[in-house]
Amino acid sequence: MFTPGRPYLAIPGPSVMPDRVLSAMHQASPNIYEGALVDMVETLWPDLRLLAGTRHNVAAYIANGHGTWEAANTNLFSRNDKALVLATGNFGHGWANSVRGLGVEVTVLDFGRSSQPDWAMVEQALRAEPNFKAVLVTHVDTATTVKTDIVALRDVMDAVGHKALLAVDCVASMGCDRFLMDDWGVDVTVAASQKGMMTPPGMGFVWFSDRAADRCATSDLRTPYWNWTPRAHADEFWQYWYGTAPTHHLFGLREALTMILREEGLPQVWARHALLARTVWAAFEGWSTGNPAIRLNVADPASRGHSVTAARFGMPDATRLRRWCEGQGGVTLGIGLGMSTPEDPNADGALRVAHMGHVNPHMTLGALAVMQAGLLALGIAHGDGLAAATAVVAQG
Ligand SMILES: *Cc1c(COP(=O)(O)O)cnc(C)c1O
Repeated sequence: MFTPGRPYLAIPGPSVMPDRVLSAMHQASPNIYEGALVDMVETLWPDLRLLAGTRHNVAAYIANGHGTWEAANTNLFSRNDKALVLATGNFGHGWANSVRGLGVEVTVLDFGRSSQPDWAMVEQALRAEPNFKAVLVTHVDTATTVKTDIVALRDVMDAVGHKALLAVDCVASMGCDRFLMDDWGVDVTVAASQKGMMTPPGMGFVWFSDRAADRCATSDLRTPYWNWTPRAHADEFWQYWYGTAPTHHLFGLREALTMILREEGLPQVWARHALLARTVWAAFEGWSTGNPAIRLNVADPASRGHSVTAARFGMPDATRLRRWCEGQGGVTLGIGLGMSTPEDPNADGALRVAHMGHVNPHMTLGALAVMQAGLLALGIAHGDGLAAATAVVAQG
């Protein structure tokens, strides 16, 4: 009713895009054989390595996050290889399904929807099967917003002396949560353009270590299109994409990487996401003081992602609140993904607030203020979340 003005999409991807990224894309089609575009793309590779914290290889694809899973899978595995997947939400199961569909033998350890992997169970699984070719894990599972401690996982793998490669889905965390691929001993990292990377959906990235390149040189699921080797070491420009380059996405990506790496700087980008995450958590904690049904999905702050926050309400209050915020406040919140239960089959008691990418305190506080207005308007009991949230921003 009062929603003219700039709409705010606070779902976990696609995220808010900077006007500068959009403007950079607004130009005529470039020559894809020589000239400015070809020169510019050479500047992207070192920046993409910097973003992931690696000196190793990066392959880019015209693909969404699901496409990058398949890109990683086809290079990592041969048919009948074994994979161990640590699932902390829908996206872990999604990656497991993606790799299982290729004929890989998948073992899934399901850690539920609110906590990190249990390291004793992971250790037991690794000891029981020395032939896992790779361990796949989601850094931040966007459905539950659980963040997994990748350093702890590496430590477990090293303690067992397991030779599996470590592959991490950073679609929801790249450019949001601290991630250091080489320092943390990660072999394969995947991410997509439309979340922390602030660019439209349609580009995916797979970073891979030299060790992974060696160990996967004979993987028989590899197909010409998904093969990461020529993409990472192209002799001719077309090989980076195995065809026409995603021209306008590249203009946008160049601008986004400039903003993240050369202007704000990655440590500050991480600090901003951490602040906004704490702001959102404080709001929920404040609201819960007046209504015990309102609570954060992940109890342990160290196990929460910094890009998106999942929360529970009494059913169906999360859906009522989402609808009110979109219809009356111009803010679109995320649905409760993979949160259905027998009592709440439509996950009407769960929602997510995204705080990823091009966001700042006025945007996050604005979304939270609309949410508090919605709680008031709908007669949903709540404490003063806004007082707590604004205090976090005030302290910085
Ligand atoms: C969004 C997301 C995906 C899937 O990406 P799509 O672009 O929707 O295919 C996979 N993993 C994680 C962690 C995500 O957040």
